Amino acid sequence: MKDLDWKNLGFGYTKTDYRYIAYWKNGEWQKGELTKDNTLHISEGSPALHYGQQCFEGLKAYRTKDGSIQLFRPDQNALRMQQSADRLLMPRVPVDMFIDACKQVVKANEEWVGPYGSGATLYLRPFLIGVGDNVGVHPAKEYIFSIFVCPVGAYFKGGLAPSKFLISTHFDRAAPHGTGAAKVGGNYAASLYPGKYAKEHGFADCIYLDPATHTKIEEVGSANFFGITKDNKFITPISPSILPSITKYSLLYLAKERLGLEVEEGDVYVKDLDQFAEAGACGTAAVITPISGVQIDDKYHVFYSETEIGPITQKLYDELTGIQFGDKPAPEGWIVKVE
Ligand SMILES: *Cc1c(COP(=O)(O)O)cnc(C)c1O
Repeated sequence: MKDLDWKNLGFGYTKTDYRYIAYWKNGEWQKGELTKDNTLHISEGSPALHYGQQCFEGLKAYRTKDGSIQLFRPDQNALRMQQSADRLLMPRVPVDMFIDACKQVVKANEEWVGPYGSGATLYLRPFLIGVGDNVGVHPAKEYIFSIFVCPVGAYFKGGLAPSKFLISTHFDRAAPHGTGAAKVGGNYAASLYPGKYAKEHGFADCIYLDPATHTKIEEVGSANFFGITKDNKFITPISPSILPSITKYSLLYLAKERLGLEVEEGDVYVKDLDQFAEAGACGTAAVITPISGVQIDDKYHVFYSETEIGPITQKLYDELTGIQFGDKPAPEGWIVKVE
């Protein structure tokens, strides 16, 4: 294993040893390979650079107690990348090719997967970009699918400590029928400016509202929202402009099947935040981050506590991370071993 301060890693880029790269040319995928080169050499006209024809994914590899390495639901990332690709007229990466590429790149960088118990994981960043000579607004004729990996710790400073968020009332990350449900860079480009404002004012990030009416919670920065009502119901927003989080769908399942909670995907009106005893942000990078409170205009709303994690949020965290690190039994098909 590499000599890193595994317990104190943040969420940042590290150049690891190998990355996977495959080219799509003449209407088909070429055989992918591992390379040590962490730079890309692409046409200045590449549609990814000018018209945002690109999408990405994010998933993690986990070290278990017995020292083995495993992935959490990579098939779901593969399928979601196909949906993003469809929306932006890019070729689909077949599910088998995607999972095989994940395994190859993790295996080649296995020394970068932190020790069990350190909290560190290996973050995988698959991406698909439109490349080649071009200048008009057209889909590319050639594509690159690549995956690089970085060892990471907590995404939000403070990890499991509750974070506070600023509800963005002036800026949206996505349009009502735009690309909010696709994991594309354009949504993130739109979020940089409001995100910077939130961070400068002491918040972890912005919460985005539904772009049509600005009355309902949609995204918590780059994570999905969930709340636990005072009568123990797990509620998470539903909307065509929310990015369908794999962590969120996993929690919906675990809340119902393992914690016995009632679960619901529905509207979360800002005016009804009092119904929640606990709230959290969930995603691969954020894992589960308790939301201490939210600022909307000049009003600050506290959920469970400014300093403590709520009991149900803690149970969900333990169940989810228990499965990811191999300490709890996983539902069928959720775990893929890297051998
Ligand atoms: C990736 C992402 C998430 C989290 O999805 P997971 O599959 O749980 O990692 C949530 N919101 C946005 C905007 C995202 O890009």
